[in-house]
Amino acid sequence: MLFQIIATFVWWMMLSITAAQSNTCPPTEYGPPSGVIQSPGFIQHLNYGNDINCVYNIRVADGSHVLLTVNSFVTEQCCDRLIIFDGPSTQSPVIISWSGRVSPGSYAESTGNVVTVIFRTDNTVNAAGFSVQYAPTHSQYTTTTTARPSLQIIDWRNKTTYWGSRPSPNDIHTLVLHHTQEPTVEATMDALNRSQLSVHYIAAKNGTIYQLVDDSNRAWHAGAGTWGDYQNMNDISIGIEIVNSGDEPFPVIQEKAVAALSQIIVTKYNILPKNIVSHADFGLARKIDVSGYFDYKLFYAELGLFPGLFITNLPVSDQKKVLYQESNSFNAAVTIIQQHLHQYGYALTADGFFGNDTELVAEAFNRHFCPEIFFKESIDAQGDDVRHWQNKRWYGISQERLDYLIAHT
Ligand SMILES: [Zn+2]
Repeated sequence: MLFQIIATFVWWMMLSITAAQSNTCPPTEYGPPSGVIQSPGFIQHLNYGNDINCVYNIRVADGSHVLLTVNSFVTEQCCDRLIIFDGPSTQSPVIISWSGRVSPGSYAESTGNVVTVIFRTDNTVNAAGFSVQYAPTHSQYTTTTTARPSLQIIDWRNKTTYWGSRPSPNDIHTLVLHHTQEPTVEATMDALNRSQLSVHYIAAKNGTIYQLVDDSNRAWHAGAGTWGDYQNMNDISIGIEIVNSGDEPFPVIQEKAVAALSQIIVTKYNILPKNIVSHADFGLARKIDVSGYFDYKLFYAELGLFPGLFITNLPVSDQKKVLYQESNSFNAAVTIIQQHLHQYGYALTADGFFGNDTELVAEAFNRHFCPEIFFKESIDAQGDDVRHWQNKRWYGISQERLDYLIAHT
């Protein structure tokens, strides 16, 4: 009998532990003058629960901005996030997206008196959640640390007819970065039309974004190539063309605009960090964009992705040490590298030979992840791309970066 009582008690305890979560959204509407929004169950000290999609519509007094300040914030890093939109709907620009641990006192500010906030969680791991205060303010962006000015997106959807329907409009899994080779947005638009090609967005050098094709439609920008399990990239990707010759650095304002646009896209479609790719990552022999001048370190930092990726523990001599290069002999260690590159997404067979295919993947990988050793491409007098054979080798820094990526994806 005693055993039964204890067993029942243990069963009840287990039930109450597993049931200590909530997935019922709090109210949706929040008005002036100020107040607090919270994740489901926050007041009852419950975890928020899985598969949540809560909306909070916040309005403060006319003529003021909304200042959101974190009281407490803990969610599953990566997958459970609070997204704050600068206006009355989720079509408005994203001000900021918070996930993981956000320090109390962190804040974001809108440009108008209305914001839309969504809290979205995935189907695993949940945590205590958040409490965020909202209040009216008359301060400006310059006084904040986490907010950034909203993007300017210009509608150019009437300038192209070279696009189609996606086989499945909601299946958007990759973001592809290109550079245009053309000097301006207008020249890029002309070049695309001449080639009967298109892309979803073009990012001008001053950071202005031009939208050519709706996200839900299939733009013609990716061509042949495979990334991970994805075979037809145009079916499942969104493309951004960045105005740049391929032979010059990118202005920081342009890189930040690309990052801000990417953050909106990645958040909206739940695109995994490893599925943000350069065109050349899957167009291996054909493509060299986005060029080695593109600052992926800044880009990932703006998106809060892969923290520490670009911090190296290697002395310079080891970073630049050639571990493997073109060879006709089998090497078991090369097989492991090939397996890991394939696991990350690169189209590569693990055969143990550092042959032409492996050289091309090493070049794309180094261009994307190893600015320390990469020789930037240039354009020669005939207008051809100059590629450097040194980029096709596997270096100490290449190995360190790949090890990080495999451990963090
Ligand atoms: Zn391209």
